[in-house]
Parts: sequence; C-alpha cells; structure tokens
Amino acid sequence: MAAKGDMVYAWTNDKNIAEKAECGGAVTTLLKFALESKIVDAVLAVKKGVDVFDAAPILITDPKDLMNTAGSLHCGTLLLSKLVKKYLDGAANTRIAVTVKGCDAMGLFELAKRQQVNLDNIVMIGVNCGGTVSPVKARRMITEVYGVDPDKVHKEEIDKGQFIIEYEGGHKGISIDELEEKGYGRRTNCRRCKMKVPRQADLACGNWGIIGDKAGKATFIEVCSEKGANLLDQAVKAKALTTEPAPTKGLEMRQKVEGAMMKLGDKWRARDFKDLGEGRERLKKIMHDTSRCIKCYSCIEACPICYCVECSTKKPYLVTPGQLPPNFMFHLIRFAHIADSCVNCGQCQELCPMDIPNALFMHAQQVELEKMFGHVPGVSMELPVLAIADERTERDRLSSTGSDQIFDIFKS
Ligand code: FAD
Ligand code: SF4
Ligand code: SF4
Ligand code: SF4
Ligand code: SF4
Repeated sequence: MAAKGDMVYAWTNDKNIAEKAECGGAVTTLLKFALESKIVDAVLAVKKGVDVFDAAPILITDPKDLMNTAGSLHCGTLLLSKLVKKYLDGAANTRIAVTVKGCDAMGLFELAKRQQVNLDNIVMIGVNCGGTVSPVKARRMITEVYGVDPDKVHKEEIDKGQFIIEYEGGHKGISIDELEEKGYGRRTNCRRCKMKVPRQADLACGNWGIIGDKAGKATFIEVCSEKGANLLDQAVKAKALTTEPAPTKGLEMRQKVEGAMMKLGDKWRARDFKDLGEGRERLKKIMHDTSRCIKCYSCIEACPICYCVECSTKKPYLVTPGQLPPNFMFHLIRFAHIADSCVNCGQCQELCPMDIPNALFMHAQQVELEKMFGHVPGVSMELPVLAIADERTERDRLSSTGSDQIFDIFKS
C-alpha cells in the first residue's frame, strides 16, 4: 500500500504509452486509469499543437485521446490553473485530473483560497519542472545559436543540463547555462522559480533520480497526498502500472539535483532583483517600463490571482478611461492586490504585447513581502495578509459608514 512520502519508480504496462511517453509513462497511465475507472469525469492536459514549440491545452473525456498528450513539451509555457476557473467552472461540479507544473499547482491553490476552484474535485498529477522556453525565443535561439531552421526540428528535450534538438539531418545539444548567458534559454521567471518538485500536488512525477537500467524507462514518483496514494494503489492493482521502491542512490541523486536547482534559482533572483535597483530607483524603473503599457488587460486575463468580476482597474475614478498609457494607478492596483500572492508563473510577462517585465516587478515585491510576513503563496490554503485586512468584520465596518472608502479622497 502506498502512503504519503513514498518514493517509487513507476512504469506503464501499456506498450503504446511507453513508446510515446517522456520516460516511464506513469503520468499518462494514471490519467487514463483515473478516467477509465471513473475516478474523474475529465482530464485536462497538454498536447502538441502545430509544431514542437506549440503546446495546446486539451480537455479529454475519451481515455484513448490521452495518447496524444504523452511526452513533455518544454516550450509549453501555458498555465492550466486559470483555465480550470475560466472554462471548467472551477471544477465546481466536475471531477477532473490535471497535469500540473509547479506554477499550475500554485495557481490552483491561490484560486482555491479565493473560492474560485474546488480542490476536492481536482486530482493534481504534478510534473517536476526545470523550466520552460518561450516558443518565440526558442525559434530565434534555434536559428541564431544552433544554426538550424526551427521548422525542421521534430523533437526537443532537456537532458543533463542541455537543450537538445533533433532535426532533419542531425541533433545538437547546447548547455542551458551557456544559452542563458547569451540571453536565450528558459524564461526569466523559470530561472527564478524554486517550485521544481510540486509537492502540493497529489503526486510529483519526474525523471530526476532514475538510474541504472531504468534510466529513461521509469518515472520517479513522490507520493504527496492520500488521494495520490489511493490513485497509485488502484492503478497498480489494476495492473496498469508497475512500481518498485526508489533505490537509495536514486533518492540521493534526486535530492542533489533539486538542491542545485534551488541554488540556481537563488542566484537568478539575486541577479534579477539587483538589476531592478532599490527604493526610489526601482520605482523609477517600474514607472519607466510600464509607461509602454497599452492597457490591453492581457496581464489581468492571464493572472491566476486576478479573478474579480468587477476589476478595480476598470473603475473610471481610479484609471482614466481612454488614456494611453494608463495612469500608474493601473499597475499600482495590480501590485496592491497581487504582490503578496504572486506565484511567479510569468504569464503577465509572457503575454504582454509591450514586453513589460511584469512578472519580474511582481515577483520582486512578493519576495519582499514573504520576508516581512512569512506568507508563502501557492503551497497551502493559508490566507495572504490582504485577506486578513479584508475580513468580514472589516467589510462590515466599512459598509456601516455607508461607503466602501475609509477616506473620502474624491470629494472636490
Ligand atoms: P508522460 O506519460 O509522458 O506524460 C507527460 C504529461 O506531461 C502529459 O500529461 C502532458 O500533458 C504533460 N505536459 C507536457 N508538457 C507540458 C507542459 N509544458 N505543461 C504542463 N504539462 C505538460 N522532470 C524532472 O525530474 N526534472 C526536470 O527538470 C523536469 N523538467 C520538466 C519541464 C517541463 C516543461 C515538463 C513538462 C516536464 C518536466 N519534467 C522534469 C517532468 C518529466 O519530463 C516528465 O513529465 C515526468 O517524468 C513524467 O514522465 P512520464 O513518462 O510519466 O510522463
Ligand atoms: Fe516550471 Fe517554475 Fe517555470 Fe512554472 S515557473 S514553468 S514550474 S520553472
Ligand atoms: Fe499593459 Fe502589458 Fe498588461 Fe497589456 S499586458 S495591460 S500592455 S502591462
Ligand atoms: Fe503570474 Fe504575473 Fe500573476 Fe504573478 S502577477 S501570478 S507572475 S500572472
Ligand atoms: Fe481583481 Fe485586482 Fe486583479 Fe482587478 S487587478 S482582477 S481587482 S485582483
């Protein structure tokens, strides 16, 4: 019987999945099993779109479609958590299994705190994540650094610290460190990310720590919850999956790599935040960069913390309608509402048409607030500081004054 905290090697007993999967095919097998045995009504996962740089979300209700989702897409920068809220009614009445990277899992927890998703109806199959490469940048990198036509690339992988491509006529790998020093490689938020093993999911699956004859053929699973343990047990009992305890050497290796990734994350944080400057200098930089804003609202649409029906950035007395760039209040509102809960998923930066480093600005503030108040977003159901200031008693006090404002700053 599996239990929370167990570490196992797992591999699929389905030949077709084994062929297509990234390593042991445990993730695809568990999702398929959960759907077939009606543990869930649907699966939300990721499949290849028009090419290897294009990752598309897919909602699956027919187990045989799961085959299309096997394998890892390292240029898949999408965030699944907001999709659960926006298009699946927050799993209010549907039981779904979702493949989650660290940022997806963190986003789901932040939405759950705000009562926008129902975690009871969600099975989170976590995948470890060393980082993703923006599709646009990946194509440029392959052209400029690899000297290869990106349209000729049919496979990409990240192995032993290298980004490797296979293309018509050969394959080529270059160290990610080298690529990043040249300004390519992983997204900047991914470099700073320290959620490499998503332990808030029900199972955390990866390839770190797989050694010996199982290398490349098994999935390393860390059991993170009772729900995860039950799913694994049932899949093994149904002979969909085979498991064995992870060997000590494998455990040590996984721990070592994770530790090295944490240090790398700290290094990038120190570097990026230093470049932002401090105090007035930082504020000036943020004001300068956000002055390119065209108020397209993409950052708000994509952010897993933004969920409000009536967004304050659309209130005319706060942000003047029809004015571009919007007054700085537009960004101040987001900083005030989100900074303590930002999960550094990078969406607000990735999707900004004006290349404003929004995620960097927000993440820098989140790290400061975490130091001050100790609140770590995305790992548990603990409420952020803002929620405490927004408690019912405070709301009642405000409404009993007949106004939502403490100070009547708008009186002429
Ligand atoms: P499969 O059975 O092949 O299933 C893969 C699952 O991943 C599918 O459900 C698919 O929908 C989903 N998926 C694919 N691409 C994405 C994406 N971009 N976003 C969300 N879901 C996706 N493991 C490590 O140990 N170390 C790492 O550094 C590491 N980095 C990773 C980076 C990325 C971007 C991804 C997606 C995975 C990474 N993994 C890492 C996990 C590893 O690649 C395998 O996904 C994991 O070992 C499960 O293997 P499997 O054969 O059981 O998965
Ligand atoms: Fe992976 Fe973290 Fe980047 Fe999300 S933010 S894609 S979990 S490295
Ligand atoms: Fe402004 Fe960029 Fe946000 Fe659009 S995505 S509103 S341009 S900051
Ligand atoms: Fe993600 Fe940006 Fe929202 Fe932070 S502010 S959670 S990086 S979208
Ligand atoms: Fe809600 Fe603030 Fe985000 Fe607008 S900016 S959706 S008000 S959290």
